[in-house]
Amino acid sequence: MTNQLQIHDTLIDLTQGDITDQDTDAIVNAANSSLLGGGGVDGAIHRAAGPDLLRETRTLGGCQTGDAKITKGYRLKARYVIHAVGPIYRPSDPNVANLLASAYQRSLEVAVENGLESVAFPSISTGAYGYPVEKAAAIALKTVSDFARVQDQIKLIRFVLFDPLTWRVYDQALRQISP
Ligand code: ADP
Repeated sequence: MTNQLQIHDTLIDLTQGDITDQDTDAIVNAANSSLLGGGGVDGAIHRAAGPDLLRETRTLGGCQTGDAKITKGYRLKARYVIHAVGPIYRPSDPNVANLLASAYQRSLEVAVENGLESVAFPSISTGAYGYPVEKAAAIALKTVSDFARVQDQIKLIRFVLFDPLTWRVYDQALRQISP
C-alpha cells in the first residue's frame, strides 16, 4: 500500500511497514526526552541498531519535547537516526499541537543541517503517548508539506506506518493536502 504527493522537489510518501528496514539517509525515532531508549518504535530502533546507539545517545544529555537530535545509525541501513521527542497527549493543553509540529519541523531542520536528502518518519506520539491519530496525521502532513514548499534539499519524506489502521488515517489525511 502506498500513497504519494509531490511538492516541488520533495516526494511525500506513505508506506506500511517497519521503519527499521528503511534505507533512507535517516530514520526518525519517536524518542522520549531521556534518549535512553524505551518501548514501541524506540525499542525496535535500538534493537536493530545495536548497543552502540545507546552509547551515543547517553552522551547527548537528553532532548526537550518538540526538539530533535541526530546520531549515527550503526547496524541500521539508514546512516543516521534523528531522535525526535513528541508530546504526551493532553487534551486540555493548548500547546500539544505546536510541540508535535515542532518535533517534525526540527527533525527536518536537523536533516538539512547534516546534508541529508531522504528521511523516514514513524507516527510520532500516537502510540504510548496517546495522541489521536486523526489529529496527529493532519499535523504531521501539514508540517512536512509546508517544509517541502520552502526548501529543495530533502527529496524524500516517507512515513512508515506500522499498522493498517494508522496507514489508512494518514492516507486520508494526505488526500486533504494540496500539491
Ligand atoms: P510514542 O511514545 O511517540 O507514542 P510509540 O513508539 O509508542 O511512540 O508509537 C508511535 C507509533 O510507532 C505507533 O503508531 C506505533 O504503532 C508505531 N511503531 C511501533 N513500532 C514501529 C516500527 N518498528 N516501525 C514503525 N512504526 C512503529
